[in-house]
Amino acid sequence: MKSIFEKIIDHELSAEIIYEDGLSIVIKDINPISPKHFLVIPKKKYKNIESISSNDIHIFSHLFSIIQKVVAQEDLDENGYRVVINNGEYGGQTIDHLHIHIIGGRILRWPPG
Ligand code: 5GP
Repeated sequence: MKSIFEKIIDHELSAEIIYEDGLSIVIKDINPISPKHFLVIPKKKYKNIESISSNDIHIFSHLFSIIQKVVAQEDLDENGYRVVINNGEYGGQTIDHLHIHIIGGRILRWPPG
């Protein structure tokens, strides 16, 4: 069964896309926890960090280069922002398709709950 993110990637479900290339897509989170909240999603489905084989591990450098682009595009680079992967049940992951949150636009507290 397709994940919500696969449906968005396949344009079967709408989302506000702010960046897209052959390997990844960046969308606005439907339920933002800060003024700017984006999800960086690899087009290939990996359930979580453990699902990425050593052959595919380069996807992280790609995703982080996209983060650099998006934070510049969205003016988050000057004041800072947070990058989060909720991984697995205890990590708070709700969609089993690996994704990286970019959270910014306000001061964020630490530690998270
Ligand atoms: P997780 O909890 O798995 O790390 O994050 C999943 C995120 O996906 C949540 O922040 C949630 O608000 C977001 N989300 C869930 N469904 C949709 C959707 O249909 N569209 C968009 N744009 N975001 C979604």
